[in-house]
Amino acid sequence: MPAIKTLKDLLVDELRDLYSAEQQLVKALPKMAKAATSPDLKEGITMHLEETRGHVERLDQAFKTLGVPARAKTCKAMKGLVEEGQEAIDLEAPDAIRDACLIGAAQRVEHYEMAAYGTARAFAATIGEDEVVDLLQQTLDEEGETDKKLTELSETVNQEANDLASSDDKDDEED
Ligand code: FE
Ligand code: FE
Repeated sequence: MPAIKTLKDLLVDELRDLYSAEQQLVKALPKMAKAATSPDLKEGITMHLEETRGHVERLDQAFKTLGVPARAKTCKAMKGLVEEGQEAIDLEAPDAIRDACLIGAAQRVEHYEMAAYGTARAFAATIGEDEVVDLLQQTLDEEGETDKKLTELSETVNQEANDLASSDDKDDEED
């Protein structure tokens, strides 16, 4: 018999993957916040760290509602995304450039989460687990809001990063 026989089994499997993903983020986000130079970016990442702790709790509730143990299954995708986040942290570049890179890494994370929560929510809806749908929708909304805020922040940060090049040009002209 396969380990996953029903759509509920698959939902639980997806939730275990997400449980791992969120736990990895609870560890990774403080490092990204520390590496950010823009105060707004720092604050944004720190705020989302708090939300992320809430995402772990909502998954705990979802497991409880479904009557299964809260267990994580290593999310390999998030492992890779966190590794890329570390590359952004370690990027040897002017501050605004590193910030731009950090935003790109953070948005990849949010998009991955949005896809995974959307999938899990659809499974929960199909099997009529309305409470779980609600929990997943709340988190999905917060991931979406975070992604939007990052897009807004990127406008200032990217401009700053680009202004570095024009001040370089000026230096060149003066030489
Ligand atoms: Fe999350
Ligand atoms: Fe997130």
